[in-house]
Amino acid sequence: MKYISTRGKAPALSFGDVLLAGLASDGGLYVPETLPTFSQEEIASWSGLSYQELAFNIMYPFVEGDIPAAAFKEMINDAYAGFNHSSIAPMVQTDTNEWILELFRGPTLAFKDFALQLLGRLMDYVLTKRQEKLVILGATSGDTGSAAIEGCRHSDHLKIFILHPYQRVSEVQRRQMTTVIDDNVFNIAVKGNFDDCQGMVKNSFADQSFLQGAKLGAVNSINWARIMAQIVYYFSSALSVGAPARKVSFSVPTGNFGDIFAGYLAKKMGLPIDQLVVATNQNDILHRVISENDMSRQSLNVTLSPSMDIMVSSNFERLLFDAHGRNGAEIDDLMTRFNAGDVSLSDDAWSFVKSHFDSYKVDDSRTCEVIKQVFDETQYLLDPHTAIGLDAARTCWKDKSIPMITLATAHPVKFPEAVEKAGCVSPVLPDHMKDLFEREESYDVLDNDLSAVQRFVTERL
Ligand SMILES: *Cc1c(COP(=O)(O)O)cnc(C)c1O
Repeated sequence: MKYISTRGKAPALSFGDVLLAGLASDGGLYVPETLPTFSQEEIASWSGLSYQELAFNIMYPFVEGDIPAAAFKEMINDAYAGFNHSSIAPMVQTDTNEWILELFRGPTLAFKDFALQLLGRLMDYVLTKRQEKLVILGATSGDTGSAAIEGCRHSDHLKIFILHPYQRVSEVQRRQMTTVIDDNVFNIAVKGNFDDCQGMVKNSFADQSFLQGAKLGAVNSINWARIMAQIVYYFSSALSVGAPARKVSFSVPTGNFGDIFAGYLAKKMGLPIDQLVVATNQNDILHRVISENDMSRQSLNVTLSPSMDIMVSSNFERLLFDAHGRNGAEIDDLMTRFNAGDVSLSDDAWSFVKSHFDSYKVDDSRTCEVIKQVFDETQYLLDPHTAIGLDAARTCWKDKSIPMITLATAHPVKFPEAVEKAGCVSPVLPDHMKDLFEREESYDVLDNDLSAVQRFVTERL
């Protein structure tokens, strides 16, 4: 499988190279040159498979040529061995045809474990084979950081530096990162917001001279391998409610457009998906572009669903690439115009986007209402991101005979503030993190200044 850049100027690369490169050298994002597709018969034949077997069938075409089948199977088994439910991604029914897909059964209690547990192992495998080392630099709005650290901490070939916005992640989120005391793990609290952190990571990829020859790798969802791993649970959940014999719909709480983009790919690969609902909080650039063709950057709102507090959605570029007939030059031009403040799509591109996605925005007070209402009716406690997803699902659902699956992206214990504001009681920490608040923390607070952050990294190479 070859991968090409959305901006058309970087060379096509193999899976192994894309895995280590992250962002393409022309500033674009890598996407597969062609997508594997599966027939309805083939998908139907997978209904009895374990999550791990299904994951192998869906992902192997993407890595073939770079990772041998046996090694890949072992990595998949390892990656999901630390999940606390035997079906890995269990489903809970909350109403007729209404389902919650629990993606928070991994070690850090958010859906990012699905991709990052695998990513760490894939990187370690490729680096071992090539006898190379890699410096990981990532930005997190809360959940990526801990999942990436958990996925990478055991590799001798990786050093990981994670930037988080100082005092803007929940205490559970911060402690899940900063209590991992390993020689190759560095947490940096930047006195800025998530977009500042993400901007520093992007700038560091664009000019890597500060690294003095070391190689830089990405764990953010610009890394293709993360998207790939997220395709699997669309198939597993759809199969469990009767696909491919019937259609299914999904609602996905999203900010960076990573998770829902994986759903779009599942559809293109043959899964009969009716609706894909984009659910946003007050930071609604995705809702605005889908509903009214407005891609303007607005100032950041701090919300009760901090993992979606972003102004710019990096992965949307991958969709725009398809919306422009996969013409890299057009995307290069569009991104230049976008940075200069021109913020709408052509009619054709906007129609393409609207033909695949519905969208809805949910504010903080409504998020709390939904948490409370669902808890009162079903005794099921939603985290604030999932509550946004469920409210969007219920609002945008067109055909109630088609199952609607809302992705539960985090466990509610990670977001006690929202749960308590909703008038519910925050659950107790699961066993493996019972002593989280007593553990020793280690992190550095740095100014919102690229050179200060780069100096910090250079000194620790
Ligand atoms: C990261 C995250 C999201 C958003 O994921 P995208 O990649 O932006 O789609 C939603 N909810 C939670 C809990 C997250 O950690």
